[in-house]
Amino acid sequence: MDIEKIKAQVRVNQYVYTHHAEIERRADELTFAQVEEALLNGEILEQYPDTGRGESCLVVGFAEDVPIHAVCGWRGEKVALITVYIPRPPKLLTPGHEERGAMRKVQCNFCGRDRYEERRIEYLYSYKGEYLLVPNTPVEVCLNCGMVYYDAAVLKEIERRFFAIQHKAEKPDRYIEMPAMAYA
Ligand SMILES: [Zn+2]
Repeated sequence: MDIEKIKAQVRVNQYVYTHHAEIERRADELTFAQVEEALLNGEILEQYPDTGRGESCLVVGFAEDVPIHAVCGWRGEKVALITVYIPRPPKLLTPGHEERGAMRKVQCNFCGRDRYEERRIEYLYSYKGEYLLVPNTPVEVCLNCGMVYYDAAVLKEIERRFFAIQHKAEKPDRYIEMPAMAYA
């Protein structure tokens, strides 16, 4: 993959998060803005050949002084963020794969199939233990394995609203009460 092509698509919001990447982003307490910053100053560390699910590569970049790794693939013309995390030594490498003829259809980055459905879900944005529940969030779902793909523009707008509400610049539609009970 070509880093300049990746950056060009990221600059114009032509990228998606997989559900997997979104979970890792949350676990490492990164914002979408930090991940985007890292992608835009990133470079490719490793190229992974196509094994039937499309080619991918490992990008490393920085959000201020935080190093961020992102495994990127293609999802048609858009960049798919397959995983996103803060690297911690020792870095585990995936084993090499045999190469196969590349075709640029929109393949699921996890199972390799190419049939999807648009759905609306209740998305729960989370950053450092604070939450924003977002009913009616549009996503694409792989009909074969169920992997969920989130559009970057949608996620960034949700993150913008989250911080606007935190800083009292915007009001949410409503507040809800939620029971909580530890599994113990
Ligand atoms: Zn799939």
